[in-house]
Amino acid sequence: MPIVTRFAPSPTGRLHTGHAYAALFAWGAARLAGGRFLLRIEDIDGGRSQPESEDAIYRDLAWLGLEWETPVRRQSEHFEDYREALARLADMNLLYPCFCTRAEIRAEIERAGSAPHLPLHSPEGPIYPGTCRRVEPGERQRRIDRGEPHALRLDVARAARLAGPLSWTDRLRGEQPATPEIFGDIVLARKDVPCSYHLAVTLDDALQGITLVTRGEDLLFASHIHRLLQALLGLATPEYHHHELITGPNGERLAKRDKSITIEALREAGKSPAEVIAMAGFGE
Ligand code: GLU
Repeated sequence: MPIVTRFAPSPTGRLHTGHAYAALFAWGAARLAGGRFLLRIEDIDGGRSQPESEDAIYRDLAWLGLEWETPVRRQSEHFEDYREALARLADMNLLYPCFCTRAEIRAEIERAGSAPHLPLHSPEGPIYPGTCRRVEPGERQRRIDRGEPHALRLDVARAARLAGPLSWTDRLRGEQPATPEIFGDIVLARKDVPCSYHLAVTLDDALQGITLVTRGEDLLFASHIHRLLQALLGLATPEYHHHELITGPNGERLAKRDKSITIEALREAGKSPAEVIAMAGFGE
């Protein structure tokens, strides 16, 4: 099967050398295997996405010498796909509306803090204590009918029971038993956006026929949830390669707010593509 990889940036700022590393990694893996390389714009968050950042992504990647297939998939054009996947999960009785505000979740976690049987932290922060999972169906409907803003959460324990034992493979780490429950009941549709990162990325990787997902090791744990969603939605499971994250001169993580190491700033400062590629860790 030919290898298909992708680079999936969010257009919320300029790309930096860490993104260059991730993009070159995915592109290189496809090229080495005579495969295909795709680009995806992860712009479900209309409040944070900027058209000029999307333009800059194309400009920066082309300047580095990367080529990708067109058309580029822009997530904001595919809400219908996400809606349909959510409807399937709802039909399986795996979703529930969550009306909690952040403050209410914090307060509930503090209250539950003394209950030692509850794990409090997931790789994404505090675990949702399940408050709205316990709301009666009639009450749920009344609150929805009243127009109360709500997210949709996955009942992860029920979903994991339905899916049975699962595993996925990371090229560096080997076969991983999937442990999606470490996240608790994750949000699959946000209050302000009718899907979420986990749902959109999992569905898109499958719809685009990605066979090798390469991304930073900061997203290693996300693959446990993605594997569960693949099983529930009957999607193919790609292979994974979570690579290291390149860091700044003091070992710190690179962030989009560090303007000095953006590809654009380096280009304007007179660096060549080869120099930036070397800075991203792909020097000869
Ligand atoms: N859009 C995500 C980001 O900007 C990456 C998604 C992925 O590779 O799974 O970090």
